[in-house]
Amino acid sequence: LKSLLTDPSLLEPRAYIGGGFVDGQDGTFEVKNPARGDVIANVANVSRSQVAGAIAQAEVAQKDWAKWTGKERANVLRKWFDLMMENQEDLAIILTAEMGKPLAESRGEIAYGASFIEFFAEEAKRIYGETIPGHQRDKRITVLKQPIGVAASITPWNFPNAMITRKAGPALAAGCAFVARPAELTPLSATALAVLADRAGLPAGVFNVVSSSNASETGKEFCENNAVRKLTFTGSTEVGRILMRQAADTVMKCSMELGGNAPFIVFDDADLDAAVEGAIMCKFRNNGQTCVCANRIYVQAGVYDAFAAKLKEAVAKMTVGDGLAEGTQFGPLINQKAVEKVQAHIADAKEKGAEVILGGNPSELGGTFFEPTIITGATQDMVFSQDETFGPMAPLFKFETEDDVIEMANDTIFGLASYFYAKDLSRVYKVAEALEYGIVGVNTGIISTELAPFGGVKQSGLGREGSHHGIEDYLEMKYICMSV
Ligand code: ADP
Repeated sequence: LKSLLTDPSLLEPRAYIGGGFVDGQDGTFEVKNPARGDVIANVANVSRSQVAGAIAQAEVAQKDWAKWTGKERANVLRKWFDLMMENQEDLAIILTAEMGKPLAESRGEIAYGASFIEFFAEEAKRIYGETIPGHQRDKRITVLKQPIGVAASITPWNFPNAMITRKAGPALAAGCAFVARPAELTPLSATALAVLADRAGLPAGVFNVVSSSNASETGKEFCENNAVRKLTFTGSTEVGRILMRQAADTVMKCSMELGGNAPFIVFDDADLDAAVEGAIMCKFRNNGQTCVCANRIYVQAGVYDAFAAKLKEAVAKMTVGDGLAEGTQFGPLINQKAVEKVQAHIADAKEKGAEVILGGNPSELGGTFFEPTIITGATQDMVFSQDETFGPMAPLFKFETEDDVIEMANDTIFGLASYFYAKDLSRVYKVAEALEYGIVGVNTGIISTELAPFGGVKQSGLGREGSHHGIEDYLEMKYICMSV
C-alpha cells in the first residue's frame, strides 16, 4: 500500500493523542483490505487508560482553543481542509484499501469529508449570540453561545473519512476539543486525518484519534468520564441505544445518526429514466452500505414492469471488482457477516414469493464480493421492510395509490432519508409533507451536502449534521441577566 502513495507518511498506524503519535498499550490490531483479505497495517490498540489520558489532554487544550477568535480557528481549519484536498488521491487510496469502495467513490468521499472542514471553518466566524429585551426596566438579557467542551465521537466504517469530519468540523469550529474513536475496520483514514491536522497546526490535544479494537471499553470511558460533555455517534440504532443509556449517568449531550430504512418511491407520472438513474445512485452507491441508501423501492403499478426492466438492464452492465482498479463500480462488501445478511434477506424474500431477476449470489470473484441483485414481488412482510439490508440488493414493491404507499413507506421505526419521483406539483408537496423522514429527495437520489441539515427522526437519531444548524449541536446557550 505504501508504494501506491505519493506521501507514504500518510499511512500512520499509531494513535494521535495530545499532539503526538503514540503506540497502543494494548498492542496492535490488524486492518485488512476487504478486496483481498491481506493485512495492510497493524494499528495501535489504545487502552482504556490511554483514552482517559486523551480526554484529559483534550480538556486542557479546549480551554485555550475556546479563547481563540473565530477567525483564528477558521484559519487553522482552512489549512487542514487545503491539506486534505492536496492529498485527496492518497487519502482516497488509503480509504479504498481499508474499506473497499471504488476509488472514484473514495475521491468523492474525501472531497465531501473535506467540505465539512471548509464549511465549518467559515462558520467559526458566525457563531452569533443574542440580546433579548429585558423583562424589567433595569434588566438586560444577553445570550452567549459557548462551546460545550470536550466532544467524543464513535464512527462507522462505511464512510471512514466523512463521518469524522462531519463531526470534528463543527466541534472544532465551535471551540470544542475532539476525541475520535474510528471504526476498528477503518482506522487508517482517521490517523491520516490526524497527520494532516498536525501539519495544519491544530494545537496539541485539540484533535485526537484513539484507535482501538475494543469499542465497548472506549465507549464506556467516553460515557463515564465527566470531562466529556458531548457524545456524537454514527452507527446502528442498536448501539446508539446502548450509548444513550450509558450517557444517562453523566447526563451527557448526545447526537445520534442511526440506522435508516429509506423508501424510494416511483409514481406513474415520474420520468422513468431519471428514476432509474436515481435509484442506481441511491441504492448501489457504496455497494448499498449507506444509511441513506434506498432499502425499499416502491413502484406504482402502471410503470412497475417498465421500471424493473430498465433498472435490470442498467445494473446488469455494472462491474464488480477491486476498488483500486479503475472502472470498478461495485467493490467487496465489508465482511462475511455483511454477505450473510444480504443472503438471508434474499432467502427470506424468495421463501415469501419474491423473484430474483438479477444476481442473487456471491460473486464468482469470491471473498466478500456479491452480485448486484434486483428482486421483484417484494412485500411488507419480508425482513427488509423492517431491517436495513446494507448491501447491493434492490427489492421492488408494487403499489396502487398514493395513500397506500405513504402508509407503507412510513411503516418503520426509522426516519432518516426518503426519496420519490413524481411530476405532479400538488402530489410532490403532499408526499414530501407526509413522509416521516428527516430528509426527502424529490426527483433525486443523492441528497448529501455539507450545506444542508442531515439527520433523522423517530429511531434514526437525534441532532443534525451539516449546515449552519450543525454547529448548534456543539454549542451551549448561556443566558446572562444583568441589572444596570
Ligand atoms: P455498523 O454496523 O455500521 O458497524 P455499529 O453500530 O455496530 O454499526 O458500529 C458503529 C461503531 O460503533 C463502530 O465503530 C463500532 O466499533 C462501534 N461500537 C459497536 N459497539 C459498541 C459499543 N457497545 N460501544 C461503543 N461503540 C460501539
